Amino acid sequence: MSATEESRRAALDPAVLGFDPDALRARYRAERDRRLRPDGSEQYQATTGEFGYYADDPHVEPGFDREPLHDHVEVLVVGGGFGGLTAAARLVERGFSDVRVVEKAGDFGGTWYWNRYPGVHCDIESYIYLPLLEELGSLPDWKYSPGSEIRGHAQAIGHHFGLYANACFQTEVTDVEWDESATRWTVRTDRGDVMTARYVVVSSGPFSRPKLPGLPGIETFRGHTFHTSRWDYDYTGGDANGGMHKLADKRVAVIGTGATAIQCVPHLGQDAAHLYVFQRTPSSVDERGNRPTDREWAATLTPGWQRERRENFLTLVTGGHAEQDLVGDRWTDSVQTLRAIMPSGDNAIPEAETDGELLAELADFAKMNSIRSRVEDVVEDPATAEALKPWYRRMCKRPTFSDTYLPTFNRPNVTLVDTGGAGVERITERGLVSGGVEYEVDCIVFATGFDLGAGPVAAAARTVRGRDGRSLAEHWSTGLKTLHGFYSHGFPNYFRLGASQNATSVNFAHVLDEQSVHVAEVIAAARDRGARYVEPSEQAEAAWVATIREKEQYSKEFFEQCTPSYYNNEGKPRQRSESYGGGPVEFYRLLRTWRAETGMTDVLVEGDER
Ligand code: NDP
Repeated sequence: MSATEESRRAALDPAVLGFDPDALRARYRAERDRRLRPDGSEQYQATTGEFGYYADDPHVEPGFDREPLHDHVEVLVVGGGFGGLTAAARLVERGFSDVRVVEKAGDFGGTWYWNRYPGVHCDIESYIYLPLLEELGSLPDWKYSPGSEIRGHAQAIGHHFGLYANACFQTEVTDVEWDESATRWTVRTDRGDVMTARYVVVSSGPFSRPKLPGLPGIETFRGHTFHTSRWDYDYTGGDANGGMHKLADKRVAVIGTGATAIQCVPHLGQDAAHLYVFQRTPSSVDERGNRPTDREWAATLTPGWQRERRENFLTLVTGGHAEQDLVGDRWTDSVQTLRAIMPSGDNAIPEAETDGELLAELADFAKMNSIRSRVEDVVEDPATAEALKPWYRRMCKRPTFSDTYLPTFNRPNVTLVDTGGAGVERITERGLVSGGVEYEVDCIVFATGFDLGAGPVAAAARTVRGRDGRSLAEHWSTGLKTLHGFYSHGFPNYFRLGASQNATSVNFAHVLDEQSVHVAEVIAAARDRGARYVEPSEQAEAAWVATIREKEQYSKEFFEQCTPSYYNNEGKPRQRSESYGGGPVEFYRLLRTWRAETGMTDVLVEGDER
């Protein structure tokens, strides 16, 4: 054995590492295997019928009505969440005044409009999450903003950029159709509007459709139920800060322990007579450390600070190197974890011998070990603590952060019902059954997440008709085809925001802002150069699809080894990733270069060239 190989082996010795990688791999596999189920994503059911939360908006006065619109706008933006808002704002910045946002909800905010459950917060630092802070000259009050502050910021963007005057709320776009002779889109809505627009920008968001567990007997339950994204404060009392006094005599069950449950469970534990938390897979719960904004620090910020901070975070969370860690939280500390576990001195692994994937896995083991130790430190009952430990690689599921979730299980009125990976078996008239035991409750809260499947893209594709009446669904019938994820051949002046054939990151509001800047730049260039329309050529589209395939780094193997979640299509990872394999930092550089060096000639159609 060579000296190098010897030192490498020594470094991977469990005694040196402080843990046994093989034992952890075996445990992760076993935990995944008992959660795999043949029905995958089909296990869920939509919020329809008597669970028709999706259709109802509890935050508006009932009976809203208005005359249908038959007018024309320069840019019509579909969706008033952070994607649509930043797109509209960036267009206004570029001198477009005739911009209309069409939004199903009663106001701006997107997912932050609908999600008002107790404890709702953003778990990405607000200084990098909230878009346009410098433009608005504002700074949130908290490092991690509560939902109300985020919603308020969305409204402030609407006011600052004058977007309210032309917005259509409580209105859903039903279909859009290209009119070649008029060089514009016809946009129809569920309120009978027939508007026209030169440009259409769509940002429909991933978390717009709540889903429920498809449990036998779900419709027979005689008590009350609701989904976390449609919290029923009439039933619970209180508000997003808690104080749910009407639960003082109620037995409440929560199904689900994802990022949403982690935030609302502490409040339910405090206010309900008894709380049962039904767990199928524990979340990784790291430290939160929320604190008020330090105004002295705020006074030191200089122009450009938000971009710098966002880019620093993006670099660190996508595995890049940065001299400093500006955000300094439990998202960005993975790099330090890696450094901490890497043996030094005699046991150091020579650089040439290091295997990136192995190191990442070891760092992951170390990180998850610390998360599991934290459970033991906080939760008093050893059996409950054991059940709350997550056994999978960290990015198999959305990491969560809370300083109040784990201590909730020390309360005498809170019971963790660990279903051992099997999930709730069924629902009866009186309650829920797990492990053959019936738990009688007055209310069931579904913290069971959102339907992200192929749904939104497929639905959008069906209702978009481009040149010659061809639908986007037909255009994509053999696979997604776009240039940079934004636009497709045959669909002039039609832009989509989102992760497909584009890049993404956990700070999705940042991603959407980068995309918005790009779209606004392209539309402004079309205007300034008098282009007839914006449309990628077939060649440019094909070249980009080839680049996506070439750069594909989607680790199907990684996700196959993961416990099921929506990250891996509930244990059935898709064949291919549609994300840009070089990551977001490289992708944004590529877009900037493309704008500067190609003069955007791939998409600006000057005359009747097509
Ligand atoms: P998730 O899809 O993450 O979680 C759903 C939960 O329901 C899981 O714990 C799942 O268990 C559980 N579940 C489903 N069916 C059953 C069953 N039959 N029995 C028991 N449990 C069941 O939804 P969330 O709403 O928690 O989060 C969705 C996303 O929203 C997050 O991933 C995140 O991206 C975003 N979010 C962001 C926040 C932020 O601060 N930025 C805050 C909150 C949410 P299992 O794990 O076994 O499948």
